[in-house]
Amino acid sequence: MEQLAADIKWDAHGLVPAIVQDAASKEVLMMAYMNQDSLKLTVESGETWFWSRSRSELWHKGATSGYLQKVKSLKYDCDGDTLLVLVDQTGPACHTGKYSCFFNEVQLNGGDVTEAAEPAADRFEILSKLEATIASREAERPEGAYTTYLFEKGVDKILKKVGEETAEVIIAAKNRDHDELRYEASDLIFHLMVLLREQKLPLDDVMKELERRHLSKK
Ligand code: AMP
Ligand code: ZN
Ligand code: ZN
Ligand code: ZN
Repeated sequence: MEQLAADIKWDAHGLVPAIVQDAASKEVLMMAYMNQDSLKLTVESGETWFWSRSRSELWHKGATSGYLQKVKSLKYDCDGDTLLVLVDQTGPACHTGKYSCFFNEVQLNGGDVTEAAEPAADRFEILSKLEATIASREAERPEGAYTTYLFEKGVDKILKKVGEETAEVIIAAKNRDHDELRYEASDLIFHLMVLLREQKLPLDDVMKELERRHLSKK
């Protein structure tokens, strides 16, 4: 802890910004400040602690909302002036009830500027988008959303759906019906992704496993 505290470049108020990221979806959730005490508490407890500048007090994230952040990894950057905390996030990270604090989107002037700023679109981009949407549904629980319903019902319901959709994929394939198969395969992938989120297994981990197998066969 001594070494860590010495490696961090504390600002004039003894604070360092900490970026909090969802370990599973990789979404940036929030930024808050830590002082030495909160960093120590975070390291020791495995839950995030910050320094609230407005309330001038140590702040155990989730102490009142109930949405504690379980720390999966903690890093600091090249020059030690910023922390990066990867967490297991279930409820909203933002006090407004939003999954992420970064929901205010600034419109950039000039169409190509926006496009250049976006990562290259690849054909599986929809999976990343879907993963992010599922994570925010889990956290925000908007009323009337089917994904909300699945998370409210819990893991057994999600497992049942994965089972049902698997059976429907089998039937569609037996029927050699492309329209039916496209529909049911989509159902299965969606419910499987809800399950991965419920289990806090990043889609990235599955992709990496596929990649590893592929490479080892070459
Ligand atoms: P919580 O730590 O989630 O129990 O929230 C307690 C209080 O901390 C809230 O009422 C807010 O004042 C503040 N707070 C919680 N989350 C955030 C956040 N992401 N950014 C800024 N303030 C927050
Ligand atoms: Zn830096
Ligand atoms: Zn916020
Ligand atoms: Zn189906």
